[in-house]
Amino acid sequence: MAKGKEILSRRQLILGLTFIFASGLLIGYLGHSITSPPITYHFSEDFTKQSLKDMRMEILSEIDFAVSKAEAEGTYNCCVDPPCRICFVMEGECNCKDELESGGDVCEECRDRLAGR
Ligand SMILES: [Zn+2]
Repeated sequence: MAKGKEILSRRQLILGLTFIFASGLLIGYLGHSITSPPITYHFSEDFTKQSLKDMRMEILSEIDFAVSKAEAEGTYNCCVDPPCRICFVMEGECNCKDELESGGDVCEECRDRLAGR
């Protein structure tokens, strides 16, 4: 009898701990969803249904948007205007202006545009 009671209480303990753990997860999740803003995508909702040509135009426009944000944050110092896109795609930042001024290498896009190509 005593053993059966012990097993029951152990089961209750496990249930209790599971409940506490699950509650913690739920509270953590709710707390997280309250404190962090919902993810909003800049890409249009029907992006995947677009033609490749329209996808390309939207991607380029999104890159330009991101580049202007990087410029505002000071991590994009390009040597051409409008700034190159390849540095953002490959590195997330651009140092082509510094490179050009110090006689270093600029990216391929900047090199072509500086050469008038
Ligand atoms: Zn560049």
